Amino acid sequence: MSAQNLLELTPNELVGLVESWGEPTYRGRQLAGWIYQKSVPDFDRMSNLPRSLRTRLAEEAVVKPPEVVESLASRDGSTKLVLRLRDGRRIHAVVMPDEDRLTLCVSSQVGCGFACAFCYTGTMGLVRDLTAGEIVGQVWAARARLPAGSRLTHVVFMGMGEPLANYGATVKALRTLVSPDGFGFSPRRITVSTVGLVQGLERLAREDLRVNLAVSLHAATDEVRSRLMPVNRGWGLEDLLAACRRFPLPVRQRLTFEYTLLDGVNASVEDARRLCGRLRGLRCKVNLIPFNAWDGSGFRRPSLERILVFQRTLLNSGLTATVRWSKGEDVSAACGQLQTAERRRAVADPLHESVSA
Ligand code: SAH
Repeated sequence: MSAQNLLELTPNELVGLVESWGEPTYRGRQLAGWIYQKSVPDFDRMSNLPRSLRTRLAEEAVVKPPEVVESLASRDGSTKLVLRLRDGRRIHAVVMPDEDRLTLCVSSQVGCGFACAFCYTGTMGLVRDLTAGEIVGQVWAARARLPAGSRLTHVVFMGMGEPLANYGATVKALRTLVSPDGFGFSPRRITVSTVGLVQGLERLAREDLRVNLAVSLHAATDEVRSRLMPVNRGWGLEDLLAACRRFPLPVRQRLTFEYTLLDGVNASVEDARRLCGRLRGLRCKVNLIPFNAWDGSGFRRPSLERILVFQRTLLNSGLTATVRWSKGEDVSAACGQLQTAERRRAVADPLHESVSA
């Protein structure tokens, strides 16, 4: 029997496991505390657990995050971690400092099957889903590398993959992230970003997790959105925005819409006005992402002036709109630049080659 990786279990499931071994509930919570709060992977060091329990754990279980095989520091302070999974596949997680925040961007799948036209990760296709433990393991591994005194404050599901297409593992990972016996993040500090899977979004609404939701919109007409995002051919903007309106937002929380600005495609003043019309009445903010270029994409980032005019148009109509100057562009860690050397259908990019070899 191969050892069970306890990072696959939520704190509640850890309690269930030790209970099934005849231990009291609090032992499970102590175990979760060692793993998720103290980052201790060795059962030997779990000094308040009885020896018999530690022995059984050592025989039957491990605490094993994905291995960080590369760490690439960007000039802007962010760090891209390349992590190797048990089957040798690689994923990325990005640590991004910003004023008083330290955000970790995690992946939810190896590759992605949604093929958004401007996204480099999308050129990989979907290789496989991550397990809950592989998602949680990114947080665990990133945290273990932080200098003393520094602490992750936020987690965003904006790395490789579509979290709502890997629904079960995503929700399980979220439970471990927000559980007080797990990582203990406030749900307000966690954001799940989606291409806009209406059914997934409705399911998430029923989980009572209260995490933030970001929806990748990128266009204000079905014509443009379907061209950029094949997913829109199944669920049009009307359906998507209706689901967004129904999404139960906790007080003072707002939906985020991500909008990647592509020159000559979706970045004109008319596009901005159409977007305002679409979002009228929604409790939301818009995150504008200037396109991060990759070789052979066929897209361009608009000029700074156009970006600011687009933002100004939204602001003038009363929307909250920020421009996200992506982190880690120089180490290919920016939005939509994450890719590892699997099933590549785009042209080779020397920078990506060097990090995925
Ligand atoms: N699959 C989820 C999570 C990815 S989040 C989603 O689509 O929301 C990454 C964000 O960056 C998405 O909004 C994505 O559309 C955007 N993005 C992808 N490629 C990009 C690029 N090259 N430049 C800027 N933004 C990009």
